[in-house]
Parts: sequence; structure tokens; C-alpha cells
Amino acid sequence: MEIPITPLDSWIIHKIGHPGRLTRQAIEEYQLEQLRETLCLARSQSPFYRKHLSRAPEPLSSLGDLAQFPFTAAQDIRDFGLQFLCVSQDKIQRVVTLDTTGTTGQPKRIYFTEEDQELTTDFFHNGMATFTAPGDRVLILLPCERAGSVGDLLATGLQRLGAEPIRHGIVRDIAQTLGVMRAEKVDSLVGIPVQVLGLARHSPEFRLKSVLLSTDYVPDAVVRAVEREWHCQVYNHYGMTEMGLGGGVECLAHRGYHLREADLYFEIVHPETGQPVAEGETGEVVFTTLTRAGMPLIRYRTGDISRFIPGACPCGTSLKNLEWIRARKTGRVAVGPVESLTIADLDEALFSVDSVYDYDASVSHEPGRDILHLSVYVTREDEPALKKRIAESLETIPAVQQAMSQASLFAQMDIYTKRTAPVSPFKRTIRESGASGQ
Ligand SMILES: [Zn+2]
Repeated sequence: MEIPITPLDSWIIHKIGHPGRLTRQAIEEYQLEQLRETLCLARSQSPFYRKHLSRAPEPLSSLGDLAQFPFTAAQDIRDFGLQFLCVSQDKIQRVVTLDTTGTTGQPKRIYFTEEDQELTTDFFHNGMATFTAPGDRVLILLPCERAGSVGDLLATGLQRLGAEPIRHGIVRDIAQTLGVMRAEKVDSLVGIPVQVLGLARHSPEFRLKSVLLSTDYVPDAVVRAVEREWHCQVYNHYGMTEMGLGGGVECLAHRGYHLREADLYFEIVHPETGQPVAEGETGEVVFTTLTRAGMPLIRYRTGDISRFIPGACPCGTSLKNLEWIRARKTGRVAVGPVESLTIADLDEALFSVDSVYDYDASVSHEPGRDILHLSVYVTREDEPALKKRIAESLETIPAVQQAMSQASLFAQMDIYTKRTAPVSPFKRTIRESGASGQ
């Protein structure tokens, strides 16, 4: 079967005003022009960038020259906040406050003008066209309560497509959301991976056309499980608030994300040295906004690890394919003297077991040994072999297997059937406690 070209292709042709077929050269010429404008805007209007970019070279003669510019990081946003703005505060229509952990002082706030919000809605409209048709009933399991929230912009984008958005918000009670799915006769849904897994594991009788999983990274085991339970196509969306909520979406070839290349310029750099890596090599994802007016981000370090997949996508577009995010720079927890473990490792192992739909993990460090505590939530309790299967799956993680064989790691597992909703819908982590294991 021939794979249709991503709708982002014709959208980007239109956005960059290029006649005829989209080429890499056309995209890159446009990006260079937009980069120059963004740098000029930032230097002239933002107190933060005026200082931050004072030693950066000028003018930009190629996209490669951007590598000589300094990075921006989450900490800069916390430290300098409003100084990032290139417009007066009365032009800001929406402020998103992120990771208010309380320990780091200032929260991270991202500011958007009305025009910035429109860019996101337009991306959602065109990105959703990949697998949504006019008339489709699409359940939105993302925050939608406030005007301008991610779910609200998505609903507007879907309306432009002629689809029927159903605003729900994040899942707080699996049974209640399943009731809504039945009553509303949904064709598709958009949600957070582990929450959608919880729904699919509890109601394998549903038949959906498509599911979009949206977050920074999607466990492969969750994609496989949702596809199997609901007999549907699962698509991944990559985005973070800093990108303007949306970053990129898969096409029907399921070969990584096609990116919003008319709004965002992506680079892959070495996580330690910050130097650009060779084409196709893995490194940290860095992006620069090309069209944002309120708070442009220049060489923003995402902490996500990925690469551009070499070669053309079978859908025939010239847009790049960013490989699915599999890891982050942070979030590794030591187990045993040399090994380390991430939530992504645990996700793949635990969600591969067919009745597991959520879990909490923590590692405590004791003298001479580490203990991995797992509370695992399952849909069926009458399965005596379940604990054994989960333990076996856990041992498929090389770090766990290695540390256990050296008796430097022990696992302690509790199995539960009762949990009305996944507790942590957003960034999940392995909690850590105790002295570092000497
Ligand atoms: Zn494609």
C-alpha cells in the first residue's frame, strides 16, 4: 500500500510561500531568513537576549553558524523570566507555569501572544489531518479547561478540520472516562501514554480508528499494547510547552516525527560538549523558535536524546524524521556500583506484561545494596503466575539483570488491582531515597 504524504508537507509549502514541491533547500533558505529575523527581534527587544547574545557573531550567513551561539536552558527561563519577552506584557495572552517543584525557587513560565497561540492551533489543525477525517469524534484527554490550554487549542484545530472534538481533560477516574467514551461514541482520542494504556487495559472491547499519544516520550510497549487492545493505529506526537505545545507528529509510515520545520529549527548536539553531531548521530535535541513573537527561544536545550533518521521517509516528504525520544539526559538512577536505570527501561519491561497498566517505582540506597521498590497496578488479580512474569520481564533490563546477579540490587514488588486513575499523568520518574550506596 502506498503511504500518503504527511499533510505537514503541503502546510509547510504554504507557510513558507514556496511554489511547487517542497525541497530541503527551500526549507533551509526560509529557516535562515526566519532565524535572522528572530535573532534581530531578540537582540533588539529582549533584555535577556541583548546580554546573552552580545558576544555572538553577526550576521548569520548559514544555518551552521548558529552553532556559535550560546544555548538557553530551563534555568535561564527560571532566572530571567519576563526579561525574555520581546513584547510588552499586555500583549501576552497566555502564561504556562511549569514544574513548580518548590525547591528551585522561581517557577518556569512560558509566555505566548495571541499570534503565538494561533501558530499552535494551526499546527494542531494540520497535524491532526494525518489520521483524522471530517466528522470524526475525537476525545481530548489533555487539559482543556482554560481558554488557550493545550486541549482547548487542539479542539479549535479539530473544528477547523471539520472533526468533532469532545473536551474531557486528563483522566482522573478510568471508569468515568470509559463511560464518556461509550456515550460519545468516539472514533479517536488524544491522551497521555500511561493514562491511555489504563483505559485500553480496562476495556479491550473498544474499537477505535486512531489514538494519538502526546508527551515528550512514548514507551514502545504502550504503543504495542494500545494497538493490540483496541485494534487501532497509534500515532506519536512530540511536543513540550516551550516548543509552543506542539513539535512534530508521525506520518502513516510511523518512522519518527515530522517536525514543524516552518516554526522550529532543530539541532542535535553532543550532550556533554554541546558540539553539533554528524548527521544521523544521536545527541541532545535543541530547538530555536522561528515564528514566535512573545518569547522566542534560541538554541533551547530540551534534555531529550534522539537523532535524525537518515534517508527519505516512505511518505515522500522532504521533511526530516526525528527518531522517537527514548531517553533523557537526566533521570538515571544508580543501581549497584556501575549500572543505572531509567523510567523508560522500566516502562518497556513492565508494560510488556499484559495486565500491567501503571506502576510507581523508587530506589533506596542501603550500605552495599540497592532496593528497587515497585507498586504495580494490574487489571486481574487471579493470576498466580503474574508476579513471576513481571519479575522475569524486569530481568530483561540489562542493568537490572547485571546488578541482581552481583547481589547489589534487590527488587521488592507489591501488586494491586485497585487504582481509579494513574496518579502521575505527566513526567514520571523513579524516586530515590537513602545515602548513595557505599
Ligand atoms: Zn513521512
